[in-house]
Amino acid sequence: MHEMGIAEQLVQIALDAIPEDMENPRVEILNLRIGKLASVVEHSLTFCLEIVTKDTPLEGVRLVIEEVPIVIRCQSCSREWEADTPMFKCPDCSDAKVTLISGREIEISSMELAD
Ligand SMILES: [Zn+2]
Repeated sequence: MHEMGIAEQLVQIALDAIPEDMENPRVEILNLRIGKLASVVEHSLTFCLEIVTKDTPLEGVRLVIEEVPIVIRCQSCSREWEADTPMFKCPDCSDAKVTLISGREIEISSMELAD
């Protein structure tokens, strides 16, 4: 289950982002951006985060996940398109030399600390 590794990394990043001089910090909401191609199962990630945040300032944190679409750009004609599945062939010129612009990210876009 690769969600456990992801959860551990996210928690580490979030903990590093908490100001050091804050007393008893508590993170209420974690806003995540997760690409459709990142193969993250949301309920697995939620489950793993519940485990790894225990006894940390993130215990009981609420996850808000924004799904990032798969966006592909053709290297030949520069057309960009959004795909539901990775379609690595340009619909215009049929070139297969394409660049993945987004869809693989797993990142914290912001987090909200309790007052
Ligand atoms: Zn093209």
